[in-house]
Amino acid sequence: MKDCQNDDVRLEDILNTTPIAVSWSSLSSGRIEYINKAFSELFGFFLDDILNIESWFLRVSPQPEYYQNVIAPWIYEYRGNASAHDLNATLFCKDNSVRHIRIRFSTIGDKQLWYFNDITDHWVAEERLRARSDMLEMVAKSSALKDILNVIVKQVQQESPLSLCSVLLFDQNEQRLRLGAAPSLPDFYNQAIDGVKIGLNVGSCGTAAYLGQRIIVEDITTHPYWKDYAQLARQADVAACWSDPIMSSKGDLLGTFAIYKRLPSIPSEKDFELINFASNLASIAIESFCAQEELEKRAYYDHLTGLANRGYFFQQCEALLNESIEESFPLVILMMDVDHFKRVNDEYGHKTGDLVLQKLAKKSLSILRKGDLIARIGGEEFAILLPFTEKNEALRIAERLRKTIELSMVLGPDHQEVFFTVSLGVACRQGGDCIVDDILNKADTALYQAKAAGRNCVFLAVTQSCSLFL
Ligand code: GH3
Ligand code: MG
Ligand code: MG
Repeated sequence: MKDCQNDDVRLEDILNTTPIAVSWSSLSSGRIEYINKAFSELFGFFLDDILNIESWFLRVSPQPEYYQNVIAPWIYEYRGNASAHDLNATLFCKDNSVRHIRIRFSTIGDKQLWYFNDITDHWVAEERLRARSDMLEMVAKSSALKDILNVIVKQVQQESPLSLCSVLLFDQNEQRLRLGAAPSLPDFYNQAIDGVKIGLNVGSCGTAAYLGQRIIVEDITTHPYWKDYAQLARQADVAACWSDPIMSSKGDLLGTFAIYKRLPSIPSEKDFELINFASNLASIAIESFCAQEELEKRAYYDHLTGLANRGYFFQQCEALLNESIEESFPLVILMMDVDHFKRVNDEYGHKTGDLVLQKLAKKSLSILRKGDLIARIGGEEFAILLPFTEKNEALRIAERLRKTIELSMVLGPDHQEVFFTVSLGVACRQGGDCIVDDILNKADTALYQAKAAGRNCVFLAVTQSCSLFL
């Protein structure tokens, strides 16, 4: 490095064979005087591109503050020392790709010798491991799906700082995509995308979900898939979007994972690898969330009719009854039972009987209001909770149920029309009713009266006895 020209040449030759990026600069002027071959290969810069150490660090820092707050204080601290502690830094190469570098420098006279060790692969592996274990811990703790998806999105954005990511969730019934997590995209954009129907030419995500395949749109402004959304993308300042369908282990569509870029761009090998990693994590998170939801559903709902089950009904009833006592609002319970249901089974078979129960559930739901609760509490017995409801309103609802069910039918095994009816007992909460069973028993007695009176009718439980309501 010092006096002899021949020594310089030999030293450069030696340094050019090392795989570590090396440079040296003048301590007094800051001018970079030498970079080796590995330096150019790693960062893409040649000596002519670089003025001095400060301007170069500013050029490769993610933001100017990063240089001012992280790199400059570190250089200053070890400036006079023979050798400095390592600094792990995130730096941008000339082509704007991001590398994670362990930097070290030593000072010999007026020369500062710099070493740049590329630890990107190691850093990425460690970060991904950490993200995966964070995510699995959240899954195990049944954290909110949105929080889990945010961890995944943030991991990708940290690994690839010029990316903006989104996870959309597939709504199978509606064939729509719902917002899962997209913390860096503007709210107006997320709101516009939330609920979009999947299909061809519905941006990268709508199309990826529809076709079940990865969609790479390099330039949104010219791509046919984005024709109807180009203006929205312009407002959100995004120019490229690569979207991957997230599939379950059984091959069902769960959603999409997308990377947006501010400038038109195509993914590199590393980007593809990152998309695979993120899609895979998102798939685990969404699938386990759905499995959890399914378990809860099984615990609270009846699988044949989809209505609440007995346990859930009692739990909800208990809570609402207490509220209705404390806040003095009226509350009614209806008991409903299919008339001569055994005959339906005997005449048309059990399958037709099941169809009757399903039709009855559907018809009842179409009549009941938001806030009412209907449950299947026995084979062909249903209980209905009507909060904030007075006696007369409850009787009207019961009668409407009876009539609607009387008019509905299912098709038997030989496509014959099978009609069916129900009887109902109605009981209103009164002063002394402190537990659900009290009101249910009264409703049950009224139902029994309705059966005894010939079925297909509504009976109201009154203090002394029950009365027929027509
Ligand atoms: P009533 O008018 O007095 O209520 O007469 P019913 O025939 O409806 O009453 P009963 O209690 O004698 O018979 C109820 C029948 O409901 C007997 C049982 O096999 C049938 N059942 C219970 N659960 C199911 C089910 O899930 N599916 C079908 N198809 N039938 C069921
Ligand atoms: Mg019955
Ligand atoms: Mg019964």
